[in-house]
Amino acid sequence: MSFIEIENVSKIYGEGATEVKALDNVSFKIEKGEIVVILGASGAGKSTLLNILGGMDNLTSGSYKMDGEEVGNYNSKELENFRRNNIGFVFQFYNLMNNLTALENVEIAASLVKNPLSSIDMLEKVDLAKRKNNYPGELSGGEQQRVSIARALVKNPKLLLCDEPTGALDSKTGISIIKLLYEISREENTTVIIVTHNSSLKDIATHLIRIADGKIIENTYQEKKENVDEIKW
Ligand code: ADP
Repeated sequence: MSFIEIENVSKIYGEGATEVKALDNVSFKIEKGEIVVILGASGAGKSTLLNILGGMDNLTSGSYKMDGEEVGNYNSKELENFRRNNIGFVFQFYNLMNNLTALENVEIAASLVKNPLSSIDMLEKVDLAKRKNNYPGELSGGEQQRVSIARALVKNPKLLLCDEPTGALDSKTGISIIKLLYEISREENTTVIIVTHNSSLKDIATHLIRIADGKIIENTYQEKKENVDEIKW
């Protein structure tokens, strides 16, 4: 049994003449500790796949299992619990609460789950403990993304799901965020999925899934990169 098993998943929006097959019979597996990059152009079906993996949307057909549990059949209440307890989200634009400090942003996420990790430890892990009393507006883009990673990690999630995590950052800051995700994956064996249209990120994947027109066009494995600094975009 793999950690994640996506089998013959289709997602259709609309019906009849306006029907759109956003995902067309997609299958793949993900093991614990992988750094997966899901790569595709705009309209390929990335967001649809991300929404399904994160329990934000249901499938039209097929099966989505995590740790052997059929998530694909969950009702909306079950999906809410699944999201809350299992998934750490990292977004392109950070989605921090501007009226809360860095530490409070992490603490509020911690307060929503049963067995959170320590908020200050998570800020320490992303190297921002010294900025714990700063508000998001007082932090750079890269620092805000670090806070958002701390917020995702404090839940001790099974899966870290990152939606264009470097999309709003310059190349150098983006690479430092990728390095951080690498460290986390190595230290905690956390499974990281990065959804992106940026093909430079394909090199950092240990598992690359490329999609186009709602179909998987590549599903390959690569060695873990020793030196993330070599990546450029
Ligand atoms: P990507 O994230 O790769 O840009 P999406 O998953 O957003 O791709 O979209 C895949 C396809 O599904 C596109 O053709 C898009 O227009 C369509 N689509 C996405 N969401 C909806 C929706 N809620 N209603 C109708 N069509 C949608």
